[in-house]
Amino acid sequence: MAKATPMMEQYQKIKDQYPDAFLFYRLGDFYELFNEDAIKGSQILELTLTSRSKNADNPIPMCGVPHRAVDSYIDILIDKGYKVAICEQMEDPKLTKGMVKREVTRLVTPGTQMDLGGEQSRQNNYLTALIERNGHFDLAYTDLSTGELKTTSVDRWSMALNELVNLQTREVVVNELTEEYRQQLLRQNILLSQQKQMADQAEVTYLTQDVATSEQKQVVTLLVSYLLTTQKRSLDHMQRAVSYQLDAYMKIDHHSKANLELMTNMRSGKRQGTLAWLMDETKTAMGSRLLKQWLERPLIDEQAIIERQDKVQVFLDHYFERQNLQTELTKVYDLERLAGRVAYGSVNGRDLIQLKASLQQVPKIRYILEEMDSPIFDQFVDRLDPLTDIADAIERAIKDEPPISVTDGDLIKDGYHRQLDDYRDAMQNGKQWIADLQAKERNLTGINNLKIGYNHVFGYYIEVTKANLDKLPEGRYERKQTLTNAERFSTPELKEREALILEAQEKSTALEYELFVALRDQVKAEIPRLQELAKNLSEIDVLQSFAVVSENYHFVRPTLNHDHDLEIIAGRHPVVEKFLGHQAYVPNDVLMDPETAILLITGPNMSGKSTYMRQLALIAVMTQVGCFVPAESARMPIFDQIFTRIGAADDLVSGESTFMVEMMEANRALSNATSNSLILFDEIGRGTATYDGMALAQSIIEYVHAHIGAKTLFSTHYHELTSLDHELTHLKNVHVGATEENGELVFLHKVTDGPADKSYGIHVAKLAGMPGDLLHRANEILSRLEGQAPEEAIPLSEVESTSNVTKVKEATGQLALFDEPESKPVADQHEKLYQQIKSLNL
Ligand code: ADP
Repeated sequence: MAKATPMMEQYQKIKDQYPDAFLFYRLGDFYELFNEDAIKGSQILELTLTSRSKNADNPIPMCGVPHRAVDSYIDILIDKGYKVAICEQMEDPKLTKGMVKREVTRLVTPGTQMDLGGEQSRQNNYLTALIERNGHFDLAYTDLSTGELKTTSVDRWSMALNELVNLQTREVVVNELTEEYRQQLLRQNILLSQQKQMADQAEVTYLTQDVATSEQKQVVTLLVSYLLTTQKRSLDHMQRAVSYQLDAYMKIDHHSKANLELMTNMRSGKRQGTLAWLMDETKTAMGSRLLKQWLERPLIDEQAIIERQDKVQVFLDHYFERQNLQTELTKVYDLERLAGRVAYGSVNGRDLIQLKASLQQVPKIRYILEEMDSPIFDQFVDRLDPLTDIADAIERAIKDEPPISVTDGDLIKDGYHRQLDDYRDAMQNGKQWIADLQAKERNLTGINNLKIGYNHVFGYYIEVTKANLDKLPEGRYERKQTLTNAERFSTPELKEREALILEAQEKSTALEYELFVALRDQVKAEIPRLQELAKNLSEIDVLQSFAVVSENYHFVRPTLNHDHDLEIIAGRHPVVEKFLGHQAYVPNDVLMDPETAILLITGPNMSGKSTYMRQLALIAVMTQVGCFVPAESARMPIFDQIFTRIGAADDLVSGESTFMVEMMEANRALSNATSNSLILFDEIGRGTATYDGMALAQSIIEYVHAHIGAKTLFSTHYHELTSLDHELTHLKNVHVGATEENGELVFLHKVTDGPADKSYGIHVAKLAGMPGDLLHRANEILSRLEGQAPEEAIPLSEVESTSNVTKVKEATGQLALFDEPESKPVADQHEKLYQQIKSLNL
């Protein structure tokens, strides 16, 4: 093998430290990728794959990206879940003999990506650390762009996983983790990053001082250690870690969140058509992110909910002030992320101008809030710190329209700094001197088109066209550059002045940068105040947003209780209503007094059963985030958890069968729900054979009825189940009606008491134009089945006694239409059913 060149040796040494990242190796104006990185990178980034030392025995695959465009390439790789190590030249190649020193200055990973633009500015990007200890899990997460830092502990893996998925964490930092858990994270497309080395305690003392337990301190330390190793720069904007308890919020597992489309539309994967989308009338990106956080964690503390409602009410009562407030909020930039960039040292003049503009809004916002004259806003007003010192400092120093670059001058205002003004005078005088010189030279030579110009390579020059060259006197003019039509010269006098001008320029840009950095440091020292302000403004923004949507969509303020008393009059599903229009939507009551636990909902497909169920869940969530709700009136119990099993949301990621997923989701509800929970079960059991499914459905209902008592909506097409209301005192039948008008099927979407009409399916088949013979036969079979089947649904205990099971099996006559059911020994069937129920792990 040929010996590696010194450069490739250096490359390999660095690459060895970052085996799981793409190494972007700076070489002049390019970042180069080599070997495997180059092969893979060229495919993903659509770059031409070339090679180094092409003619050698084993050429090295290589591809590169121009350094100016590097960010967009990094983004592509990060979005695909890869890491990128940026390796810079630490010395000026022009001034260095031999190999230029190179170092990795930053490791960009999915969880540490900053400067997210567009739609993503309305979202948090979380990085989470996870420590497992004997079945307990400690989590700490941060959004590096805002500095938010939180930690919690849970007792079960499912809860940890749920929290990670809820946070939409793309990257998890671990020290060690059981292989099985690892696999589960990978299946959720979460990148795992190993961090072995722990930072010095001293480095994290400040961040962990409010943290509850030593385990949580440790997980925060793990997180911070990873940040220190990867970011290699100031983390001054990291906020002190806040411990929270999952029990302090309403729990909604991620399946249910997906089902209810709180944040993400199930079909498009986008925000449009979700509750978050509907409720978002915030005016700032910070507000939008906070709204999302609130929706992720609805409250369960009654007082806290009422406080939010009270504030929403004040905003509702002050239409004009609210309008003004919105106008002012629109002018507030993303303070949280600006603070992050200040800490990172990546702000420029324009960012500071944005910061100033935002801060200058604060007194106006305070004033508007004061105008509303409501005691509950006092705390808001008091806490709104306009950071006048910072706003003024920026105002004094930075020009109103500074350039993007902070190193090329033209950034600092005149009159801000004496020395800078002097340099600028010198430059200005110099330029005047040059103009004078041009006039003088024209006079002297008699060449009227003689001109003095400047370029970066040759500096100042006197330009004379070829035709006029003979007019130039000998001696004094020194040739610098030859063009097609002209020659360029310098003179000793011009050279001397050029040196003075350039020196002043150089010094002035250097000084400007110095002044800028000093100002940046001044802002940096106030980051905690800035973050506090951002927090308060976001909260105001979300609450005014609640008022706006409550007004626009005619929401009402729900009352709260702890007595399991639920009464929604004329409730609506806000998102479906928005798409259909207020007129077209049929409002429905949900009446579940303290004695009613289960509503058994029957009705044909497409009649509106699942919309009705979702409507209740959305109203519960909206209530507990403190917003008003789509109804004429609403009395709501406070729910501790929501469980749903709705529709056929196949769990594609884990590749399990629909029925298995259905059973697992049902089981999650049955084993975790309390009497304060809300359960929505849509057509449970339809994923398996009729009687198998029906028996399961019935036993699930009985189980909820006997052991849980959670408010439960259960939709079913097993008509037989409707007779359960004779036995189960806390169960009520309701149905969604439909009628026939001029031979057309009309859905009324109206939920009414009692079970649905039995022969509904045959009705629909008739409307669909099925042959008369067939319909006749169907009616015949139906009446035979009705004659045979037991009047009452079979209580589970009886299913287990063999005599009735025989009867059930005979009644499976539905199949007779196509095929004679194969006769299996009853005991087999019984055993199978029993095993299935047992496997639910109740
Ligand atoms: P099901 O669950 O009974 O099959 P869905 O709840 O999916 O039915 O509703 C089917 C369609 O009926 C929905 O897409 C919606 O457009 C319409 N719909 C449902 N509920 C209502 C309502 N209350 N008012 C008006 N249209 C409704």
